Amino acid sequence: MVKLITKTQQLKEERASEIGDVGFVPTMGNLHAGHIYLLEEALKVNDVVYFSIFVNPKQFGPNEDFDKYPRTIENDIALIGECEKKYPRKKVVLFSPEDVQEIFPQNSDTQISVQTLSTLIEGALRPGHFDGVATVVYRLFDLVKPKIAYFGLKDYQQYLVIRQMVKDLNIPLEIIGMPIIRDESGLALSSRNQYLTTEQKKNALILSQTLKKIKSVIDNKKSNIDQAKKEIEIILKDNNWNYIELRDAETLSEDISSSRKLTLLAVYQLGTTRLLDNLQMEIE
Ligand code: AMP
Repeated sequence: MVKLITKTQQLKEERASEIGDVGFVPTMGNLHAGHIYLLEEALKVNDVVYFSIFVNPKQFGPNEDFDKYPRTIENDIALIGECEKKYPRKKVVLFSPEDVQEIFPQNSDTQISVQTLSTLIEGALRPGHFDGVATVVYRLFDLVKPKIAYFGLKDYQQYLVIRQMVKDLNIPLEIIGMPIIRDESGLALSSRNQYLTTEQKKNALILSQTLKKIKSVIDNKKSNIDQAKKEIEIILKDNNWNYIELRDAETLSEDISSSRKLTLLAVYQLGTTRLLDNLQMEIE
């Protein structure tokens, strides 16, 4: 049975009693196979997995979907329970704070900001978003004190922000980035996909297909990058694209002239739903 904890004090007590390796998977809930993949990987490697579900108000902008964000705790508990059953010698502790103040006490006034990475690309369109993410993840790391924390590469810029924070603040844990889980059509799984109508779901295919096409134009060769950039310019004439960016995979720098690893980051917007995706590639 999944051990559910809703209070920070209770979490601290539970954590103090652990003797084995602790893995950690932070989420905002409304779980799908992408989240469960992270949990499963954590269960394979660690004795105990702390799994958090917290819809973090600090990472939503004023006109974003904080109120409407799907909260499905009972179903989430069932999914975690099914996964936990496959690992009878392991334990999952689910931390789902009953109140925002369990994480951010009233009058708390501190923010973590990874200055450069947080203001590029997605961060430029959503000011403060990555500061909100870094602040909550720092707080959760401090409570859970994991040996390893698992993040999806689906949110690639977020993964880089967290990695930088851990390095800069010398937080003693390892960050693991897990591959993107997609549905059979190629659409990256996301809690926000359920906002899409049937028609929009069909139109969403353009996102993963376009990224794949650009990757195949580059075909791991530096000499094809200019051609790919020209194609991106044409593709961006469709106003549904918030951006398609070809960047250095470590720094997100625009200057990729000597980059060995590239990332192609994109957001395609259908109605009010912004769909994020990315692909990684190496240059020979
Ligand atoms: P969220 O609940 O959307 O904040 O996501 C929690 C964690 O799950 C983050 O590290 C995400 O990157 C990861 N995640 C979300 N969707 C996927 C996916 N389709 N594949 C892999 N990881 C994912």
